[in-house]
Amino acid sequence: MDKTGVVYLVGSGPGGLNLMTRRAREVLDKAEVILYDQLPGDEILASLPAHAEKVDVGKFGGHHTKEQDEIERLMVSYAKQGRHVVRLKGGDPFLFGRGGEELETLRAHGIPVEIVPGVTSAVAVPASVGIPVTHRRYASQVTILTGNEDPTKDESAIDWDWLSKSRGTIVILMGVKNLGNIAKFLVDHGMDASTPVAIIERGLRPDQRETIGTLETIPQLALERKVSPPAVIVIGGVVSLYTGEHVVQS
Ligand code: SAH
Repeated sequence: MDKTGVVYLVGSGPGGLNLMTRRAREVLDKAEVILYDQLPGDEILASLPAHAEKVDVGKFGGHHTKEQDEIERLMVSYAKQGRHVVRLKGGDPFLFGRGGEELETLRAHGIPVEIVPGVTSAVAVPASVGIPVTHRRYASQVTILTGNEDPTKDESAIDWDWLSKSRGTIVILMGVKNLGNIAKFLVDHGMDASTPVAIIERGLRPDQRETIGTLETIPQLALERKVSPPAVIVIGGVVSLYTGEHVVQS
């Protein structure tokens, strides 16, 4: 092999091709191996070049340590074969995408890396329905967190007490399963039960759907409407700007 391998950690944005960066398109089109999961969505996955070897690493389960180890092992071994490898991720690779861990591993193996930032769902999905995560009248700070953490468990890495007393917007990714516990915790610890909440499922995809309520009503609404991932949950006064109009072209 006279060629050096390289790994691109690429964010594909929240959904449609319009919201993918030019650099992401360039490195995808030149890729020899693409490691992907389902989060980028059908439109982007259908656009992957025919000549590239495509490996679905989503079926490994993604979130578990063993599977993550396996993905990193694959990245390293393909790169050591001198190939151009893309690890394709939904949104931005450094926001809950495990890109940071992958960067560490690649560095430890001396493999050249390029990061291709992406438009994150945490900001773009609320924007799709006209919800700005900050607004001078409602919120001058925003907290983005993973809802995989259960506030009723002692070992949570999130400071839920602080959060329930914080001002500003709360954006929760991966929060569908624990939404009931999270909403109850926030109210029990001092947040106004009438605080508006939006759940946006499959944002910027053809089957996008929104569910709007308050901290008090949203757990029941989510059950009734069988809300399912991927979804972004927004809590705070900014949600009152929601009108139902879709204002982002994906
Ligand atoms: N790196 C990604 C987030 C990965 S975590 C980013 O920057 O967007 C996966 C979570 O992101 C999902 O469970 C969901 O909460 C959110 N998500 C990603 N894309 C989404 C979309 N198009 N619509 C709604 N939620 C999305």
